[in-house]
Amino acid sequence: MGRPVPQLRAVIFDWGGTLTPWHTFDLAEQWAVYARVVHDDDERASADLAARLFAAEAAAWQRARTGQGSTHMDDLLREVGVDTTDAVHDAALTAYRHFWEPHTITDEQVRPVWEGLRERGIRVGILSNTIWSGDYHRGVFERDGVLDLIDSDVYSSEIAWTKPHPKAFQTSAEALGVEPSEAVYVGDRPFEDVHGSQSAGMRAIWVPHSEIPVAQQVSVDVTPDGVAHQLLDVLDIVDGWQSR
Ligand SMILES: [Mg+2]
Repeated sequence: MGRPVPQLRAVIFDWGGTLTPWHTFDLAEQWAVYARVVHDDDERASADLAARLFAAEAAAWQRARTGQGSTHMDDLLREVGVDTTDAVHDAALTAYRHFWEPHTITDEQVRPVWEGLRERGIRVGILSNTIWSGDYHRGVFERDGVLDLIDSDVYSSEIAWTKPHPKAFQTSAEALGVEPSEAVYVGDRPFEDVHGSQSAGMRAIWVPHSEIPVAQQVSVDVTPDGVAHQLLDVLDIVDGWQSR
């Protein structure tokens, strides 16, 4: 057997592509949907705003990948000159979220996995790289009937760091009241999730089915501590560790 590993006290999950089945779709369209509401009588202004939002978001994720900090959606909007206190923003945000809704559906294995972890005395956490508010994410979990099973949730939009920065993982562990060595992180991205959590002292389980866009990939040589081809595999991996 390998080196002794501390008792596992928490499993922390990524959101997109991990708790939601991976969907490939046109990322530019989310901003086109938003911009069409803001400029419903001006096609050119609408296309221009959509393009600027798409570019601003791409730049924000590039900053995230290079450890330069997190972004909230309101920051992006203000960056391109949108007044987020205006009623038209609320209407545009509603359209944007409606566009996203089919891509936010919680995997049906989430409830049995989280119930299984809690039955084992293991805490359930969320750590997500996101520009959306925690309230929005909690609303999604509530809609899908799993909010009650989350012990702690941390969203990059509400802290200064994004994955793979170790501080993001440390913040999540602290929120759960565990040491990083007592936690495992489950995610679909080798760089942000596997490399990030292992660098912060956690174990990592990789969910290998997402088709990460090439522009979002960071090449990294990592070996996850476990691979979950479906979420229910997380319980078997955890049981394997606990029985050592
Ligand atoms: Mg993900």
